[in-house]
Amino acid sequence: MLRTFQRQIFRNVRGDRRLNTWSPLATTFNSTNENHSINLLKKETGLFGIPELKTEDGFDTLKNHALAEVNVLIEEATSKDRKRKMVEIFDELSNTLCKVADMAEFIRVAHPDQRYVRAAEDACITISGVVEKLNTHRELYDSLKQVTSNGDIQMTSDIDNHVAKLFLFDFEQCGIHLPEKQRRRVVKLNDYILQVGQKFMAGAVTPRTVNADVIPDVIRQYFVTENGQILVQGFYTDSSNTAVREAAYKLFLFPDKEQEHLLHELLHSRHLLAESCGFTSYAHRAVKGSTVKSPVVVKEFLNILSDNLQPKAIQDFQEMQKMKNAESRIKQELMPWDTPYFMAKAKKAWLNTSTAEFAPYFSLGACMEGLNFLTQSLYRVKLESVPVLSGEVWANNVHKLAVIDEEEGILGYIYCDFYERAGKPNQDCHFTIQGGKQLSDGSYQTPIVVLMLSLPHPRWSNPCLLSPSSVDNLFHEMGHALHSMLGRTKYQHVTGTRCSTDFAEVPSVLMEYFASDPRVVSKFAKHFQTQEPMLENLLYKLCASKNIFYASELQNQVFYSMLDQVYHSGKLTKSTTEILEDVQKEYYGLPYVKNTAWQLRFSHLVGYGAKYYSYLISRAIAAWIWQTYFHNDPFSRSAGNRYRRECLAYGGGKPASLLVSDFLNKEANADTFAKSLINEVDMKNLHVQTIK
Ligand SMILES: [Zn+2]
Repeated sequence: MLRTFQRQIFRNVRGDRRLNTWSPLATTFNSTNENHSINLLKKETGLFGIPELKTEDGFDTLKNHALAEVNVLIEEATSKDRKRKMVEIFDELSNTLCKVADMAEFIRVAHPDQRYVRAAEDACITISGVVEKLNTHRELYDSLKQVTSNGDIQMTSDIDNHVAKLFLFDFEQCGIHLPEKQRRRVVKLNDYILQVGQKFMAGAVTPRTVNADVIPDVIRQYFVTENGQILVQGFYTDSSNTAVREAAYKLFLFPDKEQEHLLHELLHSRHLLAESCGFTSYAHRAVKGSTVKSPVVVKEFLNILSDNLQPKAIQDFQEMQKMKNAESRIKQELMPWDTPYFMAKAKKAWLNTSTAEFAPYFSLGACMEGLNFLTQSLYRVKLESVPVLSGEVWANNVHKLAVIDEEEGILGYIYCDFYERAGKPNQDCHFTIQGGKQLSDGSYQTPIVVLMLSLPHPRWSNPCLLSPSSVDNLFHEMGHALHSMLGRTKYQHVTGTRCSTDFAEVPSVLMEYFASDPRVVSKFAKHFQTQEPMLENLLYKLCASKNIFYASELQNQVFYSMLDQVYHSGKLTKSTTEILEDVQKEYYGLPYVKNTAWQLRFSHLVGYGAKYYSYLISRAIAAWIWQTYFHNDPFSRSAGNRYRRECLAYGGGKPASLLVSDFLNKEANADTFAKSLINEVDMKNLHVQTIK
């Protein structure tokens, strides 16, 4: 009893000390108090500081105001004595609608109060109706087309021309430039694709129900049985029983006729749509204006990568095969259902400790302090927690960060909605609420974003403690936020993250490199109670453990990306499963399993259609930037400054391919992209070997 008491006092004393040494930022994020409440009676302002949004009725006011403004702008754009550049009017038009629609979209997803959700939903529907109408506004289109073809009334810059063309391309996605009959067909196809896509996405995550007797007696106990039926919800990758993993894999991926039909319809309609709009294939349409510029380059990139990865991936699989042999007396070949299991097992064995051991060193406050240290070192930009007014945020424990440049002052605001709550999507996400934009009075429209994570609530007196993978996610999402904050685009249409899909993940993936570098992590990984730094040996092992079996993981991504490309490269002449089998044989080290159809669970085919490769290209560019600028010194001010001014500042305002080749001083082509990734694999392997 006495000893317990003593320990209690000791802890309290230590607790006091920590209050004095953590920075205010860390203290805010480590605080376990509800820092403010949403008192409905005493609202000082509305959501995001917009006075109209003190109540949900404010959405109507904002919406109506926007619609009135839109009419004025359309008149200006189509007027004979227009004074401003066309692209400026278009951007203002887009800004007027986005400011309401983006914010409403976020509130619809995140607000716990259904009245706000309904009002926001209503605003979203109205605005998308207006956008649909604008997309068929022939006079508006003609005015823009005239300017992009023949020049504007004033001198225009490269950025003006680039952004004007982006607007034009958006218009033409809806077929406005086509003869009426063809245009109607495009609209119809777009609608159909949307519907089929939604159904396919829902089907992709639907669990599989089977009669219990389908599963052998010896492993049936591992599955949940109800009324003689078994529900298979996923791959059971963490089961140490091979037979369980195999059964789950085969059942979960058993071909579903309806899904097969939907996927075929989706791909076929996309092809027809692309043809109607004058493209050879849907991939040609999707990749237009991207960093790689054409699907030919995508395939070339994937092929070079695949050839170089093959021997390295084989080594990984051999390693896993050894692990599998050690687990059983009968030799069994390594199969696709084994890889995630052995990957996790290898990491655990290697670290010789559970990842829970790391959590005390990664309190949320410590991680935020790490981010702040990084932005100060690289950009002279600090992250400062600022108080929110009552009514400004939608839930307790949402923090607001001001992003402040030492010389330029406030660059923007990040609302941090980090904790899980009922009804909130369980997804790490970055939402643009208001894009940066040069305003006509010379000022700059402040970018505002929300970072959404689903961290567990702090328990008892402990702050929220992050797992190593949550730390990576936090840094990743913060990379998106910084893209929005440090972007200084003239137009909001291309603010920060509104850039080519295959460039959009560059800033976020680059942040993962920082989060995995021992020099960076050692700056902030400190025990939340004692402030003791993580043991060096542990720190190095943790950072290197992220690189285990990297080649085989990458090969898996190459396979998915290639499959997505082939599906969208023209009219299908085989079933989607036959194509899967062919592509898997050529691009993946483990065999296709008969009577399975993995592609029917690949929901990214809907959202990314022909752009799934974007992840790999973003990764390649990030690796290239890291190797060129930050590998030697992850705190380099001069490198940070260049990256900020020559990359982030542009948002999507400069063609991605040009931006990359200018910044890296080398032509951005399939070969250089692939080489930077191969280089990365070698560096990571070396890292693993030296730490082992
Ligand atoms: Zn991301």
